[in-house]
Amino acid sequence: MNNHASFSPSALAEKASEIVSNVRELSALGWTPATSSNFSMRLDSRHVAITSSGKDKGRLKSEDIMVVDLEGHAVATSLKPSAETLLHTQLYKHSPGIGCVLHTHSRVQTVASRLYAKAGKIRLEGYELLKAFRGNETHETAIDVPVFPNSQDMISLAGKVQRLLYSGPIWGYLIDGHGLYAWGQDMAEARRHLEAFEFLFACELDLRRLGAN
Ligand SMILES: [Zn+2]
Repeated sequence: MNNHASFSPSALAEKASEIVSNVRELSALGWTPATSSNFSMRLDSRHVAITSSGKDKGRLKSEDIMVVDLEGHAVATSLKPSAETLLHTQLYKHSPGIGCVLHTHSRVQTVASRLYAKAGKIRLEGYELLKAFRGNETHETAIDVPVFPNSQDMISLAGKVQRLLYSGPIWGYLIDGHGLYAWGQDMAEARRHLEAFEFLFACELDLRRLGAN
């Protein structure tokens, strides 16, 4: 544990309250079952506020939000970071423009990840809601959402994600049988991306059920 806190306590208080109110809403949608899922926001160029391990997200409190550095080490706290912290911090390290990372385990995300694991991606094409993703101006486009094999080895999983980050603008990925990572420049954008992914995966699953794709 590093006791040399050099982040702003007022920035932490502000981000913690933003995380808590948003996470409670996402939890109410059923996207964070059984204490799963984790959420973070950038505090400054070296620190991230993130949910600590194993908390019920529907009852999340500001005290459950801890600070880690960009290597994922706890800063000035005895709280334990989630095993998946590295998947958050690699995104903040990758781009100073990333300010918020949301990781959920909804049923739609989980089923979609299983169905498309073999293909390694889900293609989303022709939907009006593709305009929800930053940089997309039209529905006449397609994005491929990667599906990675699940792993408890975060260094290996982060390595696979890292290669993808250099392949072009991307706002999320799925992990097989696990859930979704989505991000953006701030909470509002990350949440818009998360909700768009959820909606579009649900459409793809409905189409599959109806035999249309
Ligand atoms: Zn997870």
